[in-house]
Amino acid sequence: MKKLSMEELNRVTPEQFKSQDKFPIVMVLDSIRSMNNVGSVFRTCDAMNVEKLYLCGITACPPQKEIAKTALGATESVDWEYVEDVAALARRLHEEGYTIAIVEQTDESVMLPRIDFTQYPKLCLIVGNEVFGISDALLPLCDLAVEIPQFGTKHSLNVTIAAGMVLWEAVKQKGGL
Ligand code: SAH
Repeated sequence: MKKLSMEELNRVTPEQFKSQDKFPIVMVLDSIRSMNNVGSVFRTCDAMNVEKLYLCGITACPPQKEIAKTALGATESVDWEYVEDVAALARRLHEEGYTIAIVEQTDESVMLPRIDFTQYPKLCLIVGNEVFGISDALLPLCDLAVEIPQFGTKHSLNVTIAAGMVLWEAVKQKGGL
């Protein structure tokens, strides 16, 4: 066995990425306070071929050194936009036909392994602040709350890990391997 070099990985260029078809999934960061977390989600959105990443509320936008550190160039490939009001964005995306799924632990959330993402042709995933979670304004607006089961002592996962786990499950079900 040998590890693959950059060339052997055969990745698309940022230009090719921009023009290739994406999975019909958008990711929304609802007031993420750590720029390292923002960069990390950029990198995951690049890997998972998402349509667009929305940065909302207090979430910092590129260019920022602390975002670049973990995005490792993904801010150049992933299409992104800053929208201050996350609830207004959710309403707009819902009107455009997206299923609004908050990734959050709520009294009505559905456990990730029970979700059939193929029911939702266009999916909007929203993750929340490291301390306060998802904005309360989103609770009456969303179509679905997705919860990742946990088996340990901690209340929650790091937001970038939660985003990656749900994104991968959605992509896998939508035909990405
Ligand atoms: N103390 C906060 C924790 C937020 S963790 C709270 O009580 O809400 C930051 C974000 O990560 C959450 O808003 C959610 O989007 C995501 N997250 C973390 N663990 C999760 C889990 N087990 N299931 C679903 N989302 C989770």
